[in-house]
Amino acid sequence: MSEVSLEKSVGEILRLVGEDPNREGLLKTPERVARALQFLTKGYAEDPKTVINGAMFVEDYSEMIVLKDLDFFSLCEHHILPFFGTAHVAYIPKHRIVGISKLARLVEVYARRLQVQERLTTQIANMLMDELDPLGVAVVLRAEHLCMRMRGVEKQNSVVVTSAMLGVFRSHQETRQEFMTLVNSVNAR
Ligand SMILES: [Zn+2]
Repeated sequence: MSEVSLEKSVGEILRLVGEDPNREGLLKTPERVARALQFLTKGYAEDPKTVINGAMFVEDYSEMIVLKDLDFFSLCEHHILPFFGTAHVAYIPKHRIVGISKLARLVEVYARRLQVQERLTTQIANMLMDELDPLGVAVVLRAEHLCMRMRGVEKQNSVVVTSAMLGVFRSHQETRQEFMTLVNSVNAR
């Protein structure tokens, strides 16, 4: 979407909520909101496959690789309000591994779109499963949703936890348990 029409629409929203878009404090608001929205949804312009494919390499390693406590920020698609928290991503390679920083980038690409937490979780897991062809993938997201907290829908301070367990993480309880223990250890949030 062009920034100009986004700006115009934000101006219209300001009017509709009862504001005067011409008062001094709001003069630059449409421009700022348009820019912020484009940043917060920049994941649409990025291809998650490209993120992974550019950094895969063949490696004879078959232990669990875990990226834990990764902060993420997303927008719920129902209210366009933030939900944010921590992501934990793990996989057990079969023949390919990927740079750890790319796991973080992958989470970022999917999070910077309008999302529901459940889909964000499975998209990350499925993409890794498809591209790395590992023995298994596990993704756990813990997040608070401002659309619930600010509107008083749910108990305050409630955290939503979603998970996707594929391959050996699904079929082997021990593997799943090892992952959950790692994720819950030390600075569990
Ligand atoms: Zn919502």
